[in-house]
Amino acid sequence: MERESLEMDVVFVGAGPANLSGALHLARLVKEYNEAVAAGRREGKSLGEIEIGVIEKGASVGAHILSGAVMDPRALKELIPDFVEQGVPLEAPVKEDYFLYLTKTRAIRSPITPPPLKNHGYYIVSLNKLTAWLGEQCEAAGVNIFPEFPGAEMLYDERDCVVGVRTGDKGIDKEGKPKANFEPGVDLLAKVTVLGEGPRGSLTKQLSERLNLNEGREPQVYSIGVKELWELPDDRYPAGRVTHTLGFPSDAQTYGGGWIYGLPNRILNLGYVTGLDYRDPLLDPHAEFQRFKQHPFVAHLLEGGKLLRYGAKTIAAGGYHAMPQLYADGVLLVGDCASFLNPQRIKGIHTAIKSGMLAAEAIFEALVAGDYSERQLQRYEELVKASWVMPELRKVRNFHASFRHGRWLGLANAGLQFITGGRSWGLFDRTSTEPGHVAMRKLADYGYKGDALEQRYNGLRFDGKLTFNKLTDVYHAAVGHDEDQPAHLHVLDTNICSTRCAEEYGNPCQRFCPAAVYEMVEDSAGGRRRLQINFSNCVHCKTCDIMDPYQIINWVTPEGGGGPDYKNM
Ligand SMILES: Cc1cc2nc3c(=O)[nH]c(=O)nc-3n(C[C@H](O)[C@H](O)[C@H](O)COP(=O)(O)OP(=O)(O)OC[C@H]3O[C@@H](n4cnc5c(N)ncnc54)[C@H](O)[C@@H]3O)c2cc1C
Repeated sequence: MERESLEMDVVFVGAGPANLSGALHLARLVKEYNEAVAAGRREGKSLGEIEIGVIEKGASVGAHILSGAVMDPRALKELIPDFVEQGVPLEAPVKEDYFLYLTKTRAIRSPITPPPLKNHGYYIVSLNKLTAWLGEQCEAAGVNIFPEFPGAEMLYDERDCVVGVRTGDKGIDKEGKPKANFEPGVDLLAKVTVLGEGPRGSLTKQLSERLNLNEGREPQVYSIGVKELWELPDDRYPAGRVTHTLGFPSDAQTYGGGWIYGLPNRILNLGYVTGLDYRDPLLDPHAEFQRFKQHPFVAHLLEGGKLLRYGAKTIAAGGYHAMPQLYADGVLLVGDCASFLNPQRIKGIHTAIKSGMLAAEAIFEALVAGDYSERQLQRYEELVKASWVMPELRKVRNFHASFRHGRWLGLANAGLQFITGGRSWGLFDRTSTEPGHVAMRKLADYGYKGDALEQRYNGLRFDGKLTFNKLTDVYHAAVGHDEDQPAHLHVLDTNICSTRCAEEYGNPCQRFCPAAVYEMVEDSAGGRRRLQINFSNCVHCKTCDIMDPYQIINWVTPEGGGGPDYKNM
């Protein structure tokens, strides 16, 4: 097959806050340098025109971005000091912070807001609006942005140096044959490729395995956030109010918590985070969120309101201990796919932006030196270590590990670490020695007997007013994939689904997927039930790739432009 090759200088994979900040910062550094050289203020040779590209699998910049989000503006201020005047889309400055403990029926307000959850000076943002805005700034600075271009494969030379990325083919039918509109993917060749794919990046996974970038690090651990936007009938919840909750509906062994943020125009943004290292094989993060809304405190807030939007996405919560090697020949890793999120504050926007900026500074030095080797690019890790990011992440390095022993020990230990600067004297050191899916127990080991599947959420009804089933919610994520293409969820051995997995775990993919992608259906030929993959529902959260107990689900990028179309999320 003939493929087009396009030579660029730097290619950023994924138009998230990390990469867009990196691309923008790099474009400016190059411009300033060239101007300084031309004016004789700086010695050296002009870099000339540096081609910077950003590829994004979504139909537009921001379409696949979902976050909370309360943003710490520290890094944005460094990138764009007058960001408010420049018109960065900010929903509201945080005016009030509440921290509630939810029992089944009561909401108990903590007399003090724990310091990590204090958000004064921060902003509630819609991250997909903010990234769309950053994309515009990049284009104005001369960066080429290519939406609908998924990075499908890394390109290496004979010495395993990364030399670019191959984008996905378009127009392949579900049998794998080219259709009339077939267009082969393009080989984007670059001196430096930057992966900013967000949590559980599909290329990051390939690259890390091939180059052993996780050697000597802890496995990454994840959570999933399930979120809805509601329109309220009145001003009962003011813009700028931030509430975080702990307790109901999570049991004390499961890491979880809720958020409720007030946006302008009577819009309520709420969601629920569940740790993807839960034990109960029948747990369903989407159902947990529906139960959260049934809590009297939340249900009361939503009374008379209307569901506007839905979405779900994973969060890489391993932090400091799970950070991979950030560089190799011709490649750098930024943002969530490089474990930059602060797990204690569940804030990763500021660290993603900062990591992108530091990557840009390292690439700029590499361009000036004309050297893109690992030796030169390790400068990025040096810059990260010398920045404010590392002390911030180091202080909370054992946060997630604390919760492996349940909520109460976790909280006690998190409080202790707050005083000790992250130390926990070996008690709860490191995130986990095992990835999260290992925590899931088999049905029998968890104590389920008989028709277990009915037991966990007995009593949860989807009334279409307060609670919604997955298909209704997926409709509100505006998900679309061309159905005549191969499924982008590769299940390596579907036999396991019908046999071992059905017996041992009751096919948990049907529950951990928040978009009803996985369904066990009666086989027309009779016999055991078989797995049906409704890939067109997929919201690209990557939970299946993370949480499958046999690790046989491989999430790869579908045809460009497919997936959710998030707005205001
Ligand atoms: C539910 C939830 C709540 C959160 N709340 C907060 C909060 O309140 N405050 C806060 O600071 N942080 C919060 N975060 C974390 C924050 O959103 C992330 O840390 C941040 O978005 C990371 O930025 P990123 O650029 O690394 O990745 P992302 O924002 O994930 O962006 C990655 C982009 O890359 C694209 N992409 C991925 N793979 C490919 C590929 N192969 N080819 C092409 N494109 C690709 C994706 O479509 C996406 O557009 C939250 C996250 C979630 C999920």
